[in-house]
Amino acid sequence: MSSVSIPPPECMLRPLEVPVRYLFGPGPSNVPPRVLAAGSKPIIGHLHPEMYEIMNDIKKGIQYAFQTENNMTISMSGSGHAAMECAVFNVVEPGESVLITVNGIWGERVAEIAERLGANVHRLVKAPGGCYTNKEIEQAIEKHKPVLFFLAHGESSAGLCHPVDGFGDICRKHNCLFLVDTVASLGAAPIFMDKQKIDILYTGSQKALNAPPGTAPISFNDRACNKMFNRKTKPVSYLFDMTHLSNYWGCDGSPTRGYVLYFFGLEESWRKHKEVAAYFYKGLEDLGLKLFIPDKELRLPSVTTICIPEGYEWREMLTYIMKNHQMEITGGLGPSVGMVMRIGLMGYNCEKTNADKALHALADALKNCKKSKA
Ligand code: PMP
Repeated sequence: MSSVSIPPPECMLRPLEVPVRYLFGPGPSNVPPRVLAAGSKPIIGHLHPEMYEIMNDIKKGIQYAFQTENNMTISMSGSGHAAMECAVFNVVEPGESVLITVNGIWGERVAEIAERLGANVHRLVKAPGGCYTNKEIEQAIEKHKPVLFFLAHGESSAGLCHPVDGFGDICRKHNCLFLVDTVASLGAAPIFMDKQKIDILYTGSQKALNAPPGTAPISFNDRACNKMFNRKTKPVSYLFDMTHLSNYWGCDGSPTRGYVLYFFGLEESWRKHKEVAAYFYKGLEDLGLKLFIPDKELRLPSVTTICIPEGYEWREMLTYIMKNHQMEITGGLGPSVGMVMRIGLMGYNCEKTNADKALHALADALKNCKKSKA
């Protein structure tokens, strides 16, 4: 067996070409040159002391971004989905009850993850962008007695930023863990893990945090650690088992990769996202477009959802914008498909000049795409 029968592919001989695009969808977003440059630093071993120092710095950065003092704070290898699975796999055992708000795609995803491990899943379903009152949640928790309650802070399929206050207290009263998804909202809208009594919080790297995709910060407080380290069964995933991950990250008492928050402070970043979003909403309304979430205070500042303008084919508009403006804008996701178009202006992309670019592209599409129905 000495010669290869499958020749080296032609494409491997060509230099890699990656087009320059405006990533104005719900993520990934464009990253600043400083972050791109960090990606070209030399590789070092995963057990070298310098690596532990870098990991420690990352941990401190996450604690700041999450506003938490939790020691059990790490960044996982994988996308936001990895953190979703890590959260659910580690704190839920087969047969246990979980309560999940489904007002867009993300709750449904978490429900499916929990079902796959054999949990007893209770969904609280609303139309995309729907909000829950504290009373509704308390009643459902009293009824189903879940060990875990899930809420998406930034429901990016609907463009909703759900209020979080009060749910943490309800969960504590009923001995339930409070899990919050901030993949699409962290850095763009305020969240305070400790003060808001969130037991498990996760996010993604490629949205307002402005890093390449592929790492997902997650943090567990003492209540969550108590549950996950006193389980009867082992988590179904070896890779995402927090007993191993916490050891590697030095969160289990033993000693303790790079992304950078582009902003110089959380408050400044929240303020900027709000300001640019308000500017953008006005421009969209001036174009005659309708915002999907009517209440301004409930709109997710990082991802704006607009109703599909009457008579237009949304796919045609998005294809036109990509072809003529090299700009990614996306349609809905899951239950919001066919209802909305989504424009993300987050992190490095969160600038009024970029809002103007997106408005210009949308105006052009409105003018040049066929208007089929009246
Ligand atoms: N949750 C929310 C709210 C998201 O917006 C996304 C990504 N769009 C995810 C989870 C999943 O993250 P990823 O695509 O990085 O796996």
